[in-house]
Amino acid sequence: MTDPIIIIDNLTHVYRSGAAGRPALSDVSLAIERGSCAAIVGVTGSGKSTLVQHLNGLLRPTSGTVTVDGVELGAAAGLRELRRRVGMLFQSPEAQLFAPTVLADVAFGPRRLGLGAQELADRAIAALAAVGLPAHEYAGRSPFELSGGQMRRVALAGVLALLPTILALDEPTVGLDADGRAEFYGYVRRAQLERGVTVVLVSHDMAEVAALADRLFVLHGGRLVAQGPPHEVFLQGERLREWGLLEPPLVELLALLRRRGLALPQHVSTVAEALAALSGAERGRADV
Ligand code: ADP
Ligand code: MG
Repeated sequence: MTDPIIIIDNLTHVYRSGAAGRPALSDVSLAIERGSCAAIVGVTGSGKSTLVQHLNGLLRPTSGTVTVDGVELGAAAGLRELRRRVGMLFQSPEAQLFAPTVLADVAFGPRRLGLGAQELADRAIAALAAVGLPAHEYAGRSPFELSGGQMRRVALAGVLALLPTILALDEPTVGLDADGRAEFYGYVRRAQLERGVTVVLVSHDMAEVAALADRLFVLHGGRLVAQGPPHEVFLQGERLREWGLLEPPLVELLALLRRRGLALPQHVSTVAEALAALSGAERGRADV
């Protein structure tokens, strides 16, 4: 790794109120490359939310260290700095909305950074544009009269307006339909590509992470059991099932086609890559 922005070393977390002595995270070590999209996957209860809540100091390590963009968590001084750099969205982020207008909601977070009125407005307007909700149309509306997908994008704009270097998203599209999810992730992807934001995404939708993530981190029972690019992790078919994760249907289909003798490269893990590879394989077949 050339430039890790997040370094987690031997992180263990035991909830005080939890089952006596059983850690929610055990000895997890990992690093996330600046500007990449990392996905944390695992079944319910595997420790995903516990892990991401360490990234902005909502939870403190029981032991081990978390270093984010050079700031080591644990030092009290580091916490403020950390919260500026890490924008967080949780499940059902529309529950985080509360202001009477869309603009007021998006401006709420940056207002606490002590910005002047003009910069505040500029940032909120730019953030709304960045999630496809132009201010001239949406700024004055109540967030509660928007669709579910639009409300989540307002919540995303509120986080982007903080100009975070890291965006941590804990299953932010649960309950949205396929179009709503695709739209939401389209804007996340743009923030990653255009602003260089590092994305840490918690999801248990394998098709979703195959399309978005540069690297997967698999948690099982609070331990990191696998990591790697999606296409590599998805090769561990049997173990995936052991961890309660299913391969994306596409990967399963490609494995079947390979067994039937179609020459498909191993790196294929999205529909677009599959189509390109399949048309190549067809041409290859026609040539012989
Ligand atoms: P995931 O997000 O993968 O579903 P969590 O990080 O929420 O997993 O939970 C990991 C483990 O920690 C689970 O056994 C869960 O019951 C426990 N846990 C989560 N939050 C708390 C809490 N606030 N108090 C006590 N135990 C908790
Ligand atoms: Mg969770």
